[in-house]
Amino acid sequence: MRVLVVEDEAPLRRALVMNLDARGFAVTEAADGAHALTALADHQQDVVILDLGLPDMSGVDVIRSVRAFATTPIIVLSARSGSADKVHALDLGADDYVTKPFNMDELLARLRATNRRLQVADEPVPTTVGTVTVDLAATTAIDGDGAPVHFTPTEWKILDVLVRRPGSLVSSDTLLTAVRGSAEHTDPSYLRIYVGQLRRKLEPEPGRPRHLITEPGMGYRLRP
Ligand code: CA
Repeated sequence: MRVLVVEDEAPLRRALVMNLDARGFAVTEAADGAHALTALADHQQDVVILDLGLPDMSGVDVIRSVRAFATTPIIVLSARSGSADKVHALDLGADDYVTKPFNMDELLARLRATNRRLQVADEPVPTTVGTVTVDLAATTAIDGDGAPVHFTPTEWKILDVLVRRPGSLVSSDTLLTAVRGSAEHTDPSYLRIYVGQLRRKLEPEPGRPRHLITEPGMGYRLRP
């Protein structure tokens, strides 16, 4: 798996390169946006780890430029705790984010989730979420004790997106688009109602979700 690391802080960049290299990733590094875009244009990359605060241009501008010619997954590194720039990055086509300071294991988990998504076949295999096994191809689900679990057509649409991207952040806009064809003019509480229904069917404790996780202000993440 080829990874492009875009980070201007040299010590952090070196740490990332060292850790990824040690785990068998083929790593290319870039210290600014211009070099990142050149690296992407010159070589096929499987995933980009992108710092949002770069010296020559904003990481957000890098995402915009990359998305003009490539669908390469982008994991954003954001120093800010506020969610506005992360939301902006996701809206422009970033796939996930990690907030600095981050734990290397957390970043690797995000990379693995992205990698799994790349390998997902057109016909997804049944996935077990908590005790419920969801078969997207057959649109059937059974509980651990063999009892069928019934989902409404809207719930299936939401599940379809989440189950195909296990562990990955899925933006509210992506889910709303899957359900309604567009995210425009839709009250965010619309989605919360369906997520609440899904939790009652999937979570052992719906009030304390462990599988269908809310990422405040951004979207949802399914942890099977
Ligand atoms: Ca930076």
